Amino acid sequence: HRTVAPATKKAVEAVGQINDKEEPREAAPHGDPTFLESVDIYFDRAADLAQSTADILSQIKACNNLIRLQFPLKCGNGTVELIEAYRAQHSHHRLPVKGGIRMAPTVDTDETMALAALMTFKCALVDVPFGGAKGGIRIDPNKYTSDEKESIIRRYTSELVKKNFIGPALDVPAPDYGTGPQEMAWIKDTYGHLRPEDINGSACVTGKPLEQGGIAGRQEATGLGVYFCIREFLNDKELVSKLNMTTGLRGKRFILQGLGNVGGHTAEKIAAAGGRIIAVAEHDGGIVDETGVGLDIDAVRLYQTQKKTIVGFPGVKTLKNFAEILELECDVLIPAALETQIHSGNALSIKAKVIAEAANGPVTPTAEAILEKKGIVILPDLLLNSGGVTVSYFEWIKNLNHMRFGRMSRRIEESGKKALIEAIEMEFGSGARLSDDLRSTIVRGNTEVDFVRSGLEETMLNSWNVVKRTAHDKGCNYRTAAYLISIERIATSYKFSGIFP
Ligand code: GLU
Repeated sequence: HRTVAPATKKAVEAVGQINDKEEPREAAPHGDPTFLESVDIYFDRAADLAQSTADILSQIKACNNLIRLQFPLKCGNGTVELIEAYRAQHSHHRLPVKGGIRMAPTVDTDETMALAALMTFKCALVDVPFGGAKGGIRIDPNKYTSDEKESIIRRYTSELVKKNFIGPALDVPAPDYGTGPQEMAWIKDTYGHLRPEDINGSACVTGKPLEQGGIAGRQEATGLGVYFCIREFLNDKELVSKLNMTTGLRGKRFILQGLGNVGGHTAEKIAAAGGRIIAVAEHDGGIVDETGVGLDIDAVRLYQTQKKTIVGFPGVKTLKNFAEILELECDVLIPAALETQIHSGNALSIKAKVIAEAANGPVTPTAEAILEKKGIVILPDLLLNSGGVTVSYFEWIKNLNHMRFGRMSRRIEESGKKALIEAIEMEFGSGARLSDDLRSTIVRGNTEVDFVRSGLEETMLNSWNVVKRTAHDKGCNYRTAAYLISIERIATSYKFSGIFP
């Protein structure tokens, strides 16, 4: 009944301003919708349930700004290579816009725009006051030396500075697939050189090393958030009984695709809580535990750090074709790598009862329909992996306040527990009131990591409860519920803003 302009069309117009034509990219597997088309389809589904007008919905859906960069890299061996990179700012209904920077060969215009849109919806869902953005550099980071990566990141940052696409009040990048604290430190340093007058400069990027203004617990945050959501779902008697499962995480069988920062920390938390990780798939192969006890995840991660692969880990079955691993029998399958991994080509063979989307966009709409017909429940990316940006928000606030949380707790030790809580509430701005749970955790712990963990847990639990309730009330799946909540919140924000000029 309403026509909402496709985000894709608008963005293609934006790309048209760039001289060089982008090379054609790989299509989605098995003719499924591409990643960007998938996000559009998921958006439209929720938009149909929203109370907003078509013009507001079009505004929300469209990708506002997009830059495509091409710059030269002087490689270690003296040759020069052209590097292709992007930054998309999807929505400015809140500022700054926020989202990671990815380094992967899959990076292109569409992928960056799809990821930026997901950031907008994710931030709205967990109620962190950011618009959505995403950056990408089209390289395989494993093929470059650390010095080369540093040059790429510094040049990329300087291009963002020139175009006003970075700054604590404008656009704040973070880690994503293929980047981490080191890259964020280079970004902060480069920004500091080019904008020395910015007193809030260290808040121009999050996910920094602790020594560089980072926050305790940021690296594990996304994985911990994934774990919290899975735990809540499995503890819900009514929901798990529909899947013929018992409650609780202990003893359940999990499979992970991707053991990077997100997958690795997720696996760690699950194993620590008594879940059995029976198989892990990585890009170069997978490992399967045939004893039934579950993999020793700490040992696998140690092996991976040393050998740069999980293949060859002793005492387990190795599978060259990692795709087979997704199709093994298990309770919860956790895609924690890249988009469109579950498509119409493998959805029928998936035997999990629950799919927990730690990655962004791992399931295509075609696959989703097949999975749902089989009774498989999907916990959507918007909710599951929102822990990263939630803790990025804490880091950003910490940087803007120029205050160490540790220093604050020492002050509290002197003046008592009440003053501690008041100080933290002050840190969050006037009128802020911490929940009783968070207050009591702070009183018990008093460290930055306690503060971050409890803030994250509360955010994830609240968001999950809203998604669960909305799905129940509207009779839709969790993904549509998550999109719908976000859309309604952003719509309210756009409505009050009006249109400039
Ligand atoms: N790259 C992460 C994500 O996809 C984190 C973004 C952030 O912290 O800004 O959510």
